[in-house]
Amino acid sequence: METAQRQSVLARLGMRPLVNAHSRLTRLGGSIMAQPVLEAMLEASRHFYDMFELQERVGERIATLTHNEAAYVTSGAAAGLVLATAACITGADPARIAKLPQLDGLKDEVVVHRFQRNHYDNNVRTPGTRLVEIGGHRQTHRWELEEAIGPRTAAVLYFTGPYVARNLLPLEVVIEVASARDVPVIVDAAAHIPPASNLGRFTQMGAALAIFSGGKGLGGPQSSGLILGRRDLIAACKLLGSPSYAIGRPMKVGKEEMVGLLAAVELYLDGGEQAQRERCEAWARLMLDALAGTPGLSARRFFPNTHTQPLPEVLVEFDEALLGLTRDEIVRRLAAGDPRIEVAPHADAGLLLNPDTLQDGEAELVAQRLKAVLAE
Ligand SMILES: *Cc1c(COP(=O)(O)O)cnc(C)c1O
Repeated sequence: METAQRQSVLARLGMRPLVNAHSRLTRLGGSIMAQPVLEAMLEASRHFYDMFELQERVGERIATLTHNEAAYVTSGAAAGLVLATAACITGADPARIAKLPQLDGLKDEVVVHRFQRNHYDNNVRTPGTRLVEIGGHRQTHRWELEEAIGPRTAAVLYFTGPYVARNLLPLEVVIEVASARDVPVIVDAAAHIPPASNLGRFTQMGAALAIFSGGKGLGGPQSSGLILGRRDLIAACKLLGSPSYAIGRPMKVGKEEMVGLLAAVELYLDGGEQAQRERCEAWARLMLDALAGTPGLSARRFFPNTHTQPLPEVLVEFDEALLGLTRDEIVRRLAAGDPRIEVAPHADAGLLLNPDTLQDGEAELVAQRLKAVLAE
């Protein structure tokens, strides 16, 4: 009933759904939530709750499930970066919390590898912090990190994504050096699920906090995320985040998102990850079989995927001269067709088909549409 109503709203807006063979991208709408996640959200939507208490209970449950001291639900991993950074600056001190983003007299620096600077930098700087870079074109030396950490250092930030994996100190070394100076390490692993074991891995290695997106691998609500780790810092996040009146107040998390994310974590840890792998393997095979022997293209399994998750993708490479079509034109025609299909361009003349974001029947459809575009 609810579904029918929602579709009719979208239809009235003239919105056509996309077939997403790209990945769980925010700009494409994150993930598709499973039925138990939707049911949890629906149940939460029908009643009022004390939001401090709900955040507390949800946090305790997620912490237990993920083998962490404590957990906090945010409105996304980017909000997690703001709150985690702020927590490292203020702790639970109300005077400091009230002062943000004015940092005079407070720790105002976050150390980051130069080669990990990326489009989420803004969120680390939101509490008023300044980034201090380490590392060069060839490598990063341990002494650079030792040198960069000083009395103004609030935290060391580390990303686990593959596109920021060059010239780095290993996370183990970063944790060792920072911990010896009593400086917390924040790991942004937003897109690093699967494997689900990462939920406990970085904090068990000694990172103070690890951040994950709820709307990516976990299949939770798009506007949800997780901060996991040290109890004292998570306590600070609660004072900084909504419904507290502080720097995190605009990053409100609804009751529906809190319980939706919890349901998604429960589902993912209880067979969801395995089901995801099996589904991806089957649909990758299906697309490979359907594309085999098509003139002008070669298709092969690509593993691990571009996000270094242990899931397959299908790499399709084109003979542009033979086809008389460029890869970019093929991508454009797929996106402009009916249905609209989003794929990820790869290298010079290839594209990747990601089974992870496909739904029932769409693997066949994507392969058919691709063959039809080439035959046009
Ligand atoms: C996607 C992503 C984020 C932001 O996640 P949201 O949940 O969309 O806010 C932050 N950091 C990295 C490395 C990401 O990949």
